Amino acid sequence: MITVKNLHKNFGPLHILKGIDLEIKKGEVVVVIGPSGSGKSTFLRCLNLLEQPTDGEIKFEGKSITDKRHNINNTREKMGMVFQQFNLFPHKTVMDNITMAPIRVKKLDKAKAEAIAVELLRTVGLEDKRGAYPSQLSGGQKQRIAIARALAMEPHVMLFDEPTSALDPEMVGEVLDVMKKLAERGMTMVIVTHEMGFAREVGDRIIFMDQGIVMEQGTPQEVFNAPKHQRTQDFLSKVL
Ligand code: ADP
Ligand code: MG
Repeated sequence: MITVKNLHKNFGPLHILKGIDLEIKKGEVVVVIGPSGSGKSTFLRCLNLLEQPTDGEIKFEGKSITDKRHNINNTREKMGMVFQQFNLFPHKTVMDNITMAPIRVKKLDKAKAEAIAVELLRTVGLEDKRGAYPSQLSGGQKQRIAIARALAMEPHVMLFDEPTSALDPEMVGEVLDVMKKLAERGMTMVIVTHEMGFAREVGDRIIFMDQGIVMEQGTPQEVFNAPKHQRTQDFLSKVL
């Protein structure tokens, strides 16, 4: 579904991504781990061109999205993204937050968009919150709404950048449970997280990023139980 070849990203003089090669298959759950500052967010943001790669190629469903002639808006609709900060529209209800993009971008009529939203609210366990405003929700609830909002565009892949890092500990589980449910339904997902238990349980593949490269990758079994590189071992010894 996604092929990344020799991806580089510079911010001015800083060389942040230093040649990333990666393939993500349809239905795969890829979990990206690594120290702070290693380029995980930059990598994720390059995948949907929130950041413009400095060099290299990214293909999505067979099309080169780094090609200058490619219209990224069409592709972005197919890539849902969930951030650490939930970015809900504060003056809109939960229902409006979820239906806005499908109505504006996909041209769905309101009734159809709301029917889909109700279904998604059920998926994330918040059917009773359709009329609530973001300020009336807990952090975990806001993040579950943010996930529902991303899903409303019917993305082909979901990108998660530390979706539970801003949450109080007691709310982490409810968000991870929703992500697990999506994985079980076959959603293709790329997830940056420090939740190692979740990574081990739900990930098909673990990518360990360090200093702008993919230092090591493999099944959770391979990476967690028998890391090959010293850097991976050092990182895991701190987080496990
Ligand atoms: P991670 O998500 O693994 O913590 P990031 O991708 O956020 O790492 O950041 C990697 C490095 O790139 C950091 O040193 C960060 O300061 C730098 N960086 C990220 N975004 C920018 C930017 N827009 N301008 C300059 N430097 C940036
Ligand atoms: Mg980050």
